[in-house]
Amino acid sequence: MGFSAVIVAAGASTRAGPGIAKPWRILAGRPVIAWSIEALARAGADAIVVVTTADRLEDAAAALVGFPAPKVVIGGASRAQSVQVGLAALESGDETPVLIHDAARPFVPAPCVEALLAALDDHDGAIPGLPVADTLKRASPIIEETVPRDGLWRVQTPQAFRLGQLRAAYAALPEDAEPTDDAAVIEAAGGRVVVTPGDPMLMKLTYPEDFAMAERFAGGARITRIGQGVDAHRWGPGDAVWLCGVRIDHDQTLIGHSDADAGLHALTDAILGAIGEGDIGEHFPPSDPQWKGAASDRFLLHAVEILTNRGGRIINADVTLVCERPKIRPHRDAMRQRLAELLDVPLDRVSVKATTTEGMGFTGRQEGLLAQAIVAVETPA
Ligand code: MG
Repeated sequence: MGFSAVIVAAGASTRAGPGIAKPWRILAGRPVIAWSIEALARAGADAIVVVTTADRLEDAAAALVGFPAPKVVIGGASRAQSVQVGLAALESGDETPVLIHDAARPFVPAPCVEALLAALDDHDGAIPGLPVADTLKRASPIIEETVPRDGLWRVQTPQAFRLGQLRAAYAALPEDAEPTDDAAVIEAAGGRVVVTPGDPMLMKLTYPEDFAMAERFAGGARITRIGQGVDAHRWGPGDAVWLCGVRIDHDQTLIGHSDADAGLHALTDAILGAIGEGDIGEHFPPSDPQWKGAASDRFLLHAVEILTNRGGRIINADVTLVCERPKIRPHRDAMRQRLAELLDVPLDRVSVKATTTEGMGFTGRQEGLLAQAIVAVETPA
């Protein structure tokens, strides 16, 4: 049996860390959304509408090339509005089954789709779900009660309905309603929706580690890469210094075009080095006035973004600062904390160390400070 599909890729995705929106991340060589488009087409979709943002129209059209009755439309301010725009773009009849799918779920097993379509014969809607296996607590964060998990399901997408009925249910929805899925809209209209067997493969890519797992599902091999970075800046007159994203009161400062945070510069170079992306000077030329006095956070975030957009992630980072003064130890925890935040990794993946050179060399003579960083990253092979 044929069906129409609406794939929603119009939301912001802040939880997945820095970088481009989830549907457009590369997963085993192609955008996340391309995986779900292909899976739905293989399961029998004979019309596919992608609802996306204005800046992704061309990417969406590219991802749909070669698939049946492709259409791309621009979504609304909420998920509900985006789904309605998608439904409006379909030209199928009222009785046509329509599957609404979140683009951030790249894998759609065909048996799940078959179960949904079969269940539509006797119900107003069908959605895939998995029984809740973990014990549930209501807490804030002191536990108020243990919630019985009998009859509780984690529901997924695609969710299946009949086109005319879903359009009508959305039209009847109060303007201020914010349903988190489409079944809720049919439920609000008094419809009967059934839960059919879901699949762990239907997981939604939400956090950075989800992408690593998805990469393994996708059969894409992953490799570990190492990068290193070195940076030095000269001491000059001042009253504070930035090191590893932390401001330290000091009787001197480091001189540089930006904020001269040698720790962040070395780490940025280490990440760029691990993925063969040149160095910090290439991405942020010192000759460019816009980087004058810039906080070096942005350099590091840029390198992390390039890594993330390639489906990669940081494994761990280790920074060594070489100087006689200031004393680094009192600031080490704050530095690790800040780096963990910028790299979007747990604290134990970040190390900051310091050493002196016992008066020898340029750091020993206190002409300047040296920073070294080494980083391990994981990327698609
Ligand atoms: Mg530098």
